[in-house]
Amino acid sequence: MSLRKILSHALKDEDNRLLMASSPIFFMHILALGAFFTGFSWAAVIALAVTYVVRVFALTAGFHRYFSHRAFKTGRIFQFVMAWVGTSAAQLGPMWWAANHRHHHQYSDKAEDIHSPVVKDAFWSHIGWVLCRAYGSIQHDRIKDLSKYPELRFVDRFHVLPVISLIGVLYVIGAGLNAYYPGLGTSGMQMVMWGFFLSTILVYHVTFCVNSVTHIVGTKRFNTDDESRNNFWVALLTFGEGWHNNHHRWPLSARQGMYWWEFDLSYWMLKGLEKLGLVWDLKVYPKSIYEEAATVEVKDAA
Ligand SMILES: [Zn+2]
Ligand SMILES: [Zn+2]
Repeated sequence: MSLRKILSHALKDEDNRLLMASSPIFFMHILALGAFFTGFSWAAVIALAVTYVVRVFALTAGFHRYFSHRAFKTGRIFQFVMAWVGTSAAQLGPMWWAANHRHHHQYSDKAEDIHSPVVKDAFWSHIGWVLCRAYGSIQHDRIKDLSKYPELRFVDRFHVLPVISLIGVLYVIGAGLNAYYPGLGTSGMQMVMWGFFLSTILVYHVTFCVNSVTHIVGTKRFNTDDESRNNFWVALLTFGEGWHNNHHRWPLSARQGMYWWEFDLSYWMLKGLEKLGLVWDLKVYPKSIYEEAATVEVKDAA
């Protein structure tokens, strides 16, 4: 589907127009344009890179592999850190995120799937469903294992706090650098624009690509009864989440690439944290899945 087709659909459909105009995510896109007015500095680029890497990791390893799939174990403090940092990506809290994601795995590309490009369309699966207020509440029956922790309920309920904290920290760093190292050419506002707004928009779209692109474009290794695909480019941008057909075949694995050449930075970062003793019991694909991968004949490869 071409970008023009997606855009014309988005603007033609009145529901979609209303969704965009009423959503905070829409205004985040407008505010991100502020990066062009606060100027360029290498300090701002570093802030963008750091907030991108840290939050993509918190979403992929934390919200997805840990909170949604329980693919590894950790202590209560690091669990809270992943919840807090992931929520600073302004995609609501871990309970909301995990509940919707578990629903997606139960009904992948069936009528009930809330973000299927097969059932609806690419625009809907990418961003339409997040703009839609119908999906704003938490499906509590799906996340009883998470809601027993009061600190996770707190993060989900006050999900703006991690967001505001990140904006505040970036502003203070920028203003401090401006005062003590004016030669760096940065400022509080510039740091906020690059390190929060622009970075958050990038994190949104790479995360959303897992729901849209990897259910449309890529290859199927396994005959899953959904349209999930393996896509190198999405894997590169999302630190491993693009191996989505592997993942739908065996969602319990903390590793999504199956082989060393299937780029999965989040898994390698988790291996590093395992050495530090922060996470443990990382689940991987069982031998039977590797055997299946070697023998299966895929019927409907893209
Ligand atoms: Zn999927
Ligand atoms: Zn998943």
